[in-house]
Amino acid sequence: MSLLETRALVVRTVEFGESDVIATLVTEDAGKVAAVVRGARKGSRRVGGALEPVHTIAVLLDDKGAELTTLKESRIVQLRTGVVSNLESLDAAGTALRWARHLFPPRTPEPLGWSVLIELLDALDAVPAGSVPPRRELARAGLAMLAAVGYGLELEQCAVCGRPCPEGRSACVDPARGGLVCRACGGAASVLLPAAREAARSLSRRATPSTADAAAVTDASAEALLGLVDRAMAAHAGFER
Ligand SMILES: [Zn+2]
Repeated sequence: MSLLETRALVVRTVEFGESDVIATLVTEDAGKVAAVVRGARKGSRRVGGALEPVHTIAVLLDDKGAELTTLKESRIVQLRTGVVSNLESLDAAGTALRWARHLFPPRTPEPLGWSVLIELLDALDAVPAGSVPPRRELARAGLAMLAAVGYGLELEQCAVCGRPCPEGRSACVDPARGGLVCRACGGAASVLLPAAREAARSLSRRATPSTADAAAVTDASAEALLGLVDRAMAAHAGFER
């Protein structure tokens, strides 16, 4: 028996058989892993309430290298009651966990992506004390998550030919092709307004934007960036809304 002990987030649970559950976990040490949880629906003491999403859990997995591991133990190591008690935060957390489920490759550690996810959940947990609106935190995390797994959006120059995009003008953007695409390279599909582009810059500037940075980002720009992130995820990971 080979045991794997790691911190994890539950990104999906599906009922399995009469009393079991299959949990999809994004783990700190082993990337995305699926685990059978025996007796989960009978209220097994071993796992207790530790299969709820949003909270960081520590898991002990029996891993024989097959597609499915078996969960031996699970306990909550970081409870995020702030996320659970704020509908906007909970909604943003749900979207981020869904992104992670589709974007993280199976059984491949993704330490940067993991950090982005944990930082986002911690920031959402601090709302409203943190006072950065959840959708803006989500937009920032989405851009960072794409970058972490190597699909960062190019928003400075044409992603195809490298031609710089002038400041203050609307630009064509095609997430499937990596970001901005100039007209010469066939950029046409959709337009990124200067404000949204500036918002992406300000949100990317630091790992955790200050309240002032986030306040400079309008809700409209944040929504435009969230749309871009969603389309980029779809292009790269077969992600479905
Ligand atoms: Zn070009």
